[in-house]
Amino acid sequence: MKELRMHGKGGQGIVVGGETLSNAFLNAGKFLAVMPSYGVERRGSDVTAFGRLSDEPVRENCMCYEPDYLVIFDPSQLKKPATYKGFVPGGVIVACGTDPEEVLSMGVKPSKLVMVDGIRIAYEVTGNNLTNMIMCGAFCRAVPELPMEALLKAIEENLPKNFQKTSILGAQRGHDEAVVYTYEIHGEHSKKAPAWTRHVLACREPEKPRYEAPWGNGAEKIVTVDTGTWKVVRPVLTEESCIRCGICATYCPIQCIRKGEDGYFRADLDYCKGCGVCAYECPKKALTMVQESEFRKA
Ligand code: SF4
Ligand code: SF4
Repeated sequence: MKELRMHGKGGQGIVVGGETLSNAFLNAGKFLAVMPSYGVERRGSDVTAFGRLSDEPVRENCMCYEPDYLVIFDPSQLKKPATYKGFVPGGVIVACGTDPEEVLSMGVKPSKLVMVDGIRIAYEVTGNNLTNMIMCGAFCRAVPELPMEALLKAIEENLPKNFQKTSILGAQRGHDEAVVYTYEIHGEHSKKAPAWTRHVLACREPEKPRYEAPWGNGAEKIVTVDTGTWKVVRPVLTEESCIRCGICATYCPIQCIRKGEDGYFRADLDYCKGCGVCAYECPKKALTMVQESEFRKA
């Protein structure tokens, strides 16, 4: 039996992604039992799901502590030690991102690392950050026991009709655009750590910079993640209406609105998660929440 753990953000369809993988494995003649675990109930909070893969029906339904497979649905999870906790050396990691160093620098030793620029593809396919089917497609690329046909059949048979077209397109692009990195493993893949050589057989240069929080005490910057990838809407300022009172900055829950040299307050979009609190609190209605897809049109 192999264990699978999935990490992502609330609203990205991780639970549906896990169920779709489960149905896909059934189509491929195997069994994947999946169970989710939620954090606080809000969009953008951490969500984890667990799965057990076997040739026989699976009865265990508890959490997985030593996953052989990791699927990371959102770049915000790449730098969290909890994401990799217990990962078995020699296993397979499928991650939403472009820079394999972001994963390898966390001390894991996979035999295969599959990276896919899921957020970019998600915006191009669905207009939001719903990466679930893209990561399922990339998972098929990583795991030969799961053919793409089995995944596409699972989507057609189990997802609502109005989601099928974008889901199939997302899965196919996730599969086709994933970049596969393989590493030499000495010894068997097992829960006992095998010797591992970091020998890259296929690679490319990192594309994405690591962000730092714009706030802090000045002496020591807080290294964080680009929470800006969570948003599906962003605040747009109408300067004519703004009285530069700063109330929006006061209420922003992640304090990402800063005063510019012109006196206007604007959100740092690398961190703004699109919650809309600023627009709600603005006394002059000078902020409008606009769909993120409007800014990503080619
Ligand atoms: S709360 Fe509204 S009026 Fe005040 S600074 Fe922010 S955008 Fe301008
Ligand atoms: S939408 Fe407004 S309040 Fe919410 S994170 Fe972005 S800037 Fe802050």
